[in-house]
Amino acid sequence: MTLTFPTEAFINGRYVAAADGRTYECVTPRDGSVLASVTRGDTADISRAVAAARRAFDAGDWAYADPAQRGRVLIRMSELLFEHAERLAQIESRDTGHPISDARNVDVPGAARCFAWYGQAVDKVYGEIAPTAGDALALIGREPLGVVGAVVPWNYPLIITAWKLAPALAAGNSVVLKPAEQSPLSALALAELAAEAGIPDGVLNVVPGFGEEAGQALGRHPDVDKVAFTGSVEVGRLFQRYAGESNGKQVSLELGGKSPQVVLADAADLQAVAEAIGWGIFYNAGQTCHAGSRVVVHEAVADELRERLRSVAAGFVPADPAAEDTILGALISAEHLESVRGHVRRARDDGAAIVYGEWTGDGHVDPTAQVAPVAPVAGGAYMGPIVLDSSDDPARAIVQDEVFGPVLTIQTARDVDHALQLANDTRYGLAAAVWTRDVSTAGRLARRLRAGTVWVNTFDASSVATPFGGMRDSGHGRDRSLHALDAYTQLKTTWISLT
Ligand code: NAD
Repeated sequence: MTLTFPTEAFINGRYVAAADGRTYECVTPRDGSVLASVTRGDTADISRAVAAARRAFDAGDWAYADPAQRGRVLIRMSELLFEHAERLAQIESRDTGHPISDARNVDVPGAARCFAWYGQAVDKVYGEIAPTAGDALALIGREPLGVVGAVVPWNYPLIITAWKLAPALAAGNSVVLKPAEQSPLSALALAELAAEAGIPDGVLNVVPGFGEEAGQALGRHPDVDKVAFTGSVEVGRLFQRYAGESNGKQVSLELGGKSPQVVLADAADLQAVAEAIGWGIFYNAGQTCHAGSRVVVHEAVADELRERLRSVAAGFVPADPAAEDTILGALISAEHLESVRGHVRRARDDGAAIVYGEWTGDGHVDPTAQVAPVAPVAGGAYMGPIVLDSSDDPARAIVQDEVFGPVLTIQTARDVDHALQLANDTRYGLAAAVWTRDVSTAGRLARRLRAGTVWVNTFDASSVATPFGGMRDSGHGRDRSLHALDAYTQLKTTWISLT
């Protein structure tokens, strides 16, 4: 399929080059070739976009429109995403290395459904009347914040963009979106569809560019009311600093994770558990913020689970993302691949035991092999699954640090309390899972696991109707659900004297 896609910034309803004309090369991790030359936005471009967003907000055509009208536009956006699904899936797969089947079945429909959901919801949200004496009527309503900056990572560009844009736009805000430099193309294509759906000029702007340039300029802009950020802990902290050093704008943070999969002795069907764990860590090559990267297993079933995980891991063979049956595509970039390998090398040096080594290219699994480069497509950033045992040392870096690659650690626990202690022994708190047949144990652990989402006897089940976000170093924002509307609105009290 010959693909055409926009490569310039989208500001005030049209595609434009950077003020200084600069571009950068956007590379596909499938084979390391250049996909496109993309606008390299910087401070001047962010300023133009924020000014357009502010003008559009102040004009009120969107902010004060009947919510049902905004809803219709978002529903139309959803329809357009479905109409352009194949093209968007191809763009997303080439830009990120996602297997094409995941781009078709998860990324595009996930984003499209998110726009529809907020489109359908926004005219069904009511305000409140405060309990006052009879001589007053005190109305409590929500109104949009104004100009929202959305800064997103490269791991699920379309989906995370939709999680930000849909509630922010539904609530009546104007938005300036800064996609990750590695994966700007689907957001740029989305801008065109948004305009076609009826989003007024200036209400949605997309400025591609580098974090330290366009990202920082957005974070520091004095006329941005809020930044909704998804990405690493380190950069999340920078956005808090940018806010403090500029206008004290609101900042919501969706950050990293190191999610535990707690498997207790009475877990039903260990094969099904092993398969769920495999998908939970190897899907998208482990580049998922809530990836279930740590297994904490009761010692009574540890050997059996380890064996089953070994054979599940063997089923994830890196392959060409463009091939229809690929389930493990490329990592986002050669640099990121090197970073993941660095974590594995350190784990080996630290004494973690290899349970499953990287696929070596001929179907043979060599548990002692170094992390061998595997490239189903020459020049691409590929890596097979790694499973390591770190039962002897819960403090090991590979257990504590977010790797963001297809790397799973196993730790054994003596009993339920020990499992809970190991599971909570992390600075993160995004998600966790418990596998047990005992409903009381499941409930007790669900209450005590420090995570924004706890799954019981499943992993990664989700819906746009449920909030998603973290605790502790995983941040404090919540994407999805009606609660996300709160994050893009502020309360207004109107007190009417009746005397
Ligand atoms: P990142 O923090 O490096 O980049 C995220 C965004 O911030 C990008 O758009 C980038 O250009 C921008 N950025 C980078 N440096 C910046 C700077 N100095 N100033 C301003 N902006 C800057 O993260 P990443 O590598 O793109 O994504 C991976 C991280 O995102 C992982 O830690 C992952 O766990 C996290 N993540 C979290 C969630 C969640 O919902 N909690 C979802 C997906 C990814």
